[in-house]
Amino acid sequence: MGDNSLHILGAGLSGLAAATILANAGKEVHVYDIRKDSGSRFDGDFQGIENWTSSPDFFDEMRSWGLNPESFKSNDFSVVDLAHPDDVITQPITESIAFRVVERGTDEHCIDQGMKRMALDAGVNIHYEIRKPPEECNIIAAGPKESSAVAFGEIFHTDHPNHVTLQLNDKLAPGAYSYLIIIDGIGLICTCLWRQQKKSGKYLNETIAWYESKYELNRRPIKRVGGKGDFSLPKKYIHEGRYYVGEAGGLQDFMWGFGMRYAITSGVLAAKGILGECDYEIEIRRRLIPLVKSSATNRFLLNRVGDRGFKLAARYWMWDQKRKGDGLAFLRWLYSPGIFRKLLWPFVKFGMLRKKQLSDGRMVNRMPFRKALKRDSWEPSARGLEIGKQWDVVRKSGAKLSFKESDA
Ligand SMILES: Cc1cc2nc3c(=O)[nH]c(=O)nc-3n(C[C@H](O)[C@H](O)[C@H](O)COP(=O)(O)OP(=O)(O)OC[C@H]3O[C@@H](n4cnc5c(N)ncnc54)[C@H](O)[C@@H]3O)c2cc1C
Repeated sequence: MGDNSLHILGAGLSGLAAATILANAGKEVHVYDIRKDSGSRFDGDFQGIENWTSSPDFFDEMRSWGLNPESFKSNDFSVVDLAHPDDVITQPITESIAFRVVERGTDEHCIDQGMKRMALDAGVNIHYEIRKPPEECNIIAAGPKESSAVAFGEIFHTDHPNHVTLQLNDKLAPGAYSYLIIIDGIGLICTCLWRQQKKSGKYLNETIAWYESKYELNRRPIKRVGGKGDFSLPKKYIHEGRYYVGEAGGLQDFMWGFGMRYAITSGVLAAKGILGECDYEIEIRRRLIPLVKSSATNRFLLNRVGDRGFKLAARYWMWDQKRKGDGLAFLRWLYSPGIFRKLLWPFVKFGMLRKKQLSDGRMVNRMPFRKALKRDSWEPSARGLEIGKQWDVVRKSGAKLSFKESDA
């Protein structure tokens, strides 16, 4: 690294955000990725960029950093269907933008490609299909390494208008939630597994059966997708001179897995740290760690309850909305590090996180993938089995499966 150029491992959201800021400041920047393009880790999945953990609208925040959110396609949402564990459906709603749905992948309108175009326009040199030793890099932005949780979904054609449902259901999505996102005739039904299962297909099939029973989808499967999340709290975010950003730094939302905002924000902060505009370690601890800790405390509590706790949470959410006139207020409260969460923190650390030394020498407190519980074993419904068979036929005719249990 002797010269003045800067080297970044990983051309995903965090790496490209950092690269763009550095190149805009006049630095020579090289980004290295083992995959053949930015977004190749995904395959057309929809993801939501949240707008509740911090008060500035995230797109305004991006603009203030010199990043252009119009460089990729996004759809705003201010209302969702919330499916309670007993199948009651209510609607959290806000006057502002609650979140935006973006697509992940290698198509031109995907966020990964938008971030890539921004970096290239700023003069960044991106090298794909290159294995660069991390020791030769200034910023490590290589995404998740291990699994703390997985998500598994199906993408399909549908006639249903644009829509989002979030479902809290411990049976269909063990320990977590499932979701339906529909944008411009393409749907994604995804189940998140916060407890490790042998047959994730079974959970997805049954989740699809549930959504079909509630919505007129006219679903025509295209492909199945998924991925893993890596949740950890390292001792340090700068290790041996290298800045760790995004999920490579464990920066994730332990509660729901909304890691994109953390990824872009940490990439920007690392770049500013390198430019001498802030102290990265201090800024991460000031801006992101309180949110990460709140999300970890919420996750700790969620791990302790089943559907009964989910039901209470969903009811409280709606009660809070009625009282305050804003469905987003509850989500903001979930991430505010109040005295209760602060008092719980030692129990969270002891009860949910495990100390580990990573191969690069960093010490982290990571959230291991929890084991399956007895209640995760159940017989699939007739419709769930049919959906599984339908997928087998679609797959044999050439449909892609871009994530398997063995990838977790
Ligand atoms: C199925 C699924 C659904 C999700 N849904 C949401 C959501 O709705 N909202 C949300 O906010 N977040 C969501 N997330 C999380 C979000 O995708 C991540 O937190 C975010 O992409 C992390 O950004 P990153 O920059 O750390 O990693 P990435 O954007 O994944 O980039 C990492 C890059 O590093 C590259 N790389 C890996 N190893 C190496 C190496 N050794 N050398 C060089 N390059 C390497 C990869 O190819 C990749 O391009 C979801 C994740 C999954 C898996």
